[in-house]
Amino acid sequence: MSFASQGFCPEIVQALTQCGYQKMTPIQQKAIPLARKGHDILANAQTGTGKTAAFALPMIQSMVDHPQPRSRRHVRGLILAPTRELAQQVADNVALYHQFLPLTSAVAYGGVKMTSQAKALEAGVDILVATPGRLQELMEMNMVSLAKVEYLVLDEADRMLDMGFIGDIERIRAQIKLPHQSMLFSATYPPKMKQLAAELLKKPKIVAVGEENRTADTVAHVFYPVDEDRKIELLSELIGRKNWQQVLVFVNYKEHADAIAEELNRDGLSTGVCHGDRSQGNRRRALKEFKEGALRVLVATDVAARGLDIQGLPHVVNFDLPFLAEDYVHRIGRTGRAGLQGHAVSLVGREDELTALQIERLIGQRIRRIEQPGYEAKQREQLVDKLHNKATYRDRKSRTNRGADQSSAERQLRLRQAVKARLKQR
Ligand code: AMP
Repeated sequence: MSFASQGFCPEIVQALTQCGYQKMTPIQQKAIPLARKGHDILANAQTGTGKTAAFALPMIQSMVDHPQPRSRRHVRGLILAPTRELAQQVADNVALYHQFLPLTSAVAYGGVKMTSQAKALEAGVDILVATPGRLQELMEMNMVSLAKVEYLVLDEADRMLDMGFIGDIERIRAQIKLPHQSMLFSATYPPKMKQLAAELLKKPKIVAVGEENRTADTVAHVFYPVDEDRKIELLSELIGRKNWQQVLVFVNYKEHADAIAEELNRDGLSTGVCHGDRSQGNRRRALKEFKEGALRVLVATDVAARGLDIQGLPHVVNFDLPFLAEDYVHRIGRTGRAGLQGHAVSLVGREDELTALQIERLIGQRIRRIEQPGYEAKQREQLVDKLHNKATYRDRKSRTNRGADQSSAERQLRLRQAVKARLKQR
């Protein structure tokens, strides 16, 4: 199905041509016709499916169809996103989509000064993309009003809930006074999302692409069993020997990100980091360099990397498996996009084995295990057999085998010791 069939104005069609979009993606095919009719939408779509255009294009076209004078500090369309990086990325795409129209858009997120954001909002904007925290700050300072909002989008709503934004979302929603169209996009659909959807959406049309929690078919998954203290060495060797050129590495702890980056840089692999302790400017620069190819490796935590769109990213590595199997789906969503082949590599330590099993259950496939010569993990087969066959593990309901508990603290300590030991050897 083509975009032309959706009755978009020539300026939008021109913008889409410039972006190189020819056909609609499945989520766009399903969501756009319904959104164009004014329905509220509850969409289950993972990262990389083209969801930004699915919610932004109908909003932009509706603004063209129903022009309104701009009024000071007011916005017509509000898009909420969980992280600064995602907000910036959505705003960049929105700006591309309306570039040939006399519409304006702005982005607001924390970690940077409020002045330029307030200035952009002063004359009023048609579309504002914001993180919930910064939006509330701007509202409290009367720099923006939601009294005339006609369209509300929650992007990556599941992550906003995970990050504890539910109260903020409710307070924001309470400020929207006009009847409005709402769209909620989420990669997963846990029970608390049902509750949020019931509160926010009026008779929503439900749109889903692919099975929930399935990863793209274009991704090849591989597990490398390895002992915890040899993960960095193995990572460096894989990147170097296999000549991987653009590698996004996920870690569970900020501290590990720095240690790993230091090691890889020593090995001559240009590596940057993207995590919550780095300044906003620093993170943006690292991301830009990584996208442009100046950095070969980017080591990131989940929150910092959530939703990042890096076109055609070939390799994603889980240095640690995530605490929740669902997060594997989010992480891997960055590779194998738009039909390109992707490669999802996980370094599986002994303590990652239960999560590994849960990931296989969640995505509905056994993942190939490769033992890299020289890095064979000790006594692993017995453990894997036990996990697969013993009912206590096999039928375990929880998808996490560790959280911010004792074992993760111990694990963190062990990894730090291993990193130190390795640095000493040099
Ligand atoms: P998103 O899921 O919105 O982050 O989009 C993922 C990537 O797909 C982005 O790089 C978009 O520019 C791209 N994209 C979105 N829609 C299309 C389309 N219809 N054809 C080709 N690429 C698209």
